[in-house]
Amino acid sequence: MVKTEREYREDICQIGRLVFQKGWVAANDGNITIRLDSERILATPTGVCKGMMQPDDFIIVDMKGNKIHGRNERTSEIAMHLTVYELRPDIRAVVHAHPPVATGFATAGKPLNLALLPEVVIGLGCVPLAGYGLPGTPALTEPMLPLIPKYDALLMANHGAVCYGEDVFKAYFRMETMEHFARIQLVAELLGGPKVLPRDEVDKLLDSRTRYGVKAKSSGEPGCPVAMEDLGANGGGEERFYVTRSELIGLVDEALKARGLA
Ligand SMILES: [Zn+2]
Repeated sequence: MVKTEREYREDICQIGRLVFQKGWVAANDGNITIRLDSERILATPTGVCKGMMQPDDFIIVDMKGNKIHGRNERTSEIAMHLTVYELRPDIRAVVHAHPPVATGFATAGKPLNLALLPEVVIGLGCVPLAGYGLPGTPALTEPMLPLIPKYDALLMANHGAVCYGEDVFKAYFRMETMEHFARIQLVAELLGGPKVLPRDEVDKLLDSRTRYGVKAKSSGEPGCPVAMEDLGANGGGEERFYVTRSELIGLVDEALKARGLA
């Protein structure tokens, strides 16, 4: 059943409140859009807190980003949303926010691409990291261009994340899955490092997608997700340990001395 524009406006208010309550945005960060039809996008405007929006706050833009309705100003990040709609005809909604743990990974230059949790492998495959681009300029979307057709959730280096879906709830839930995954991986890192699933288990999970009715875009992308065997000869299963720079220099010095070389 197709919703009315009013219902879509209420959906964005609801998702905005969730994004705000979850702490995925500070102040006026983030933006949410819905594709109303082939020519119009309903969008959150610039300068509003996503947790305190009213249905009449939103603007409507055309597919080039020109405002065609609404009293507020458009966000400078609208171009990113339009790029997603252009490259993905299956997508009807885009959610962009700065969820702190996933954004922490994006800021550390780390994609969320390890095969660690069944529901993430099935639902997202992995979340790649798009390179940094200045917000509000074409440089922001450029690193995302090769990734958007293949994935449903992206990290944006030193910035945040963007997720999209067949409706605004699916886009929101993808971000929720991504942030939850980032939190779990962070805890696993603190506890000595996550144990990555082996390839045959990853393949079984990817095969089960049809059984769960999941239409993830990442199917069959190499390295998405990264399985145990992809991590090197020891499959990443060998215990890792860390030394400081001075400890390493000390070990090398000792080895050289033992051989009479230092
Ligand atoms: Zn942003």
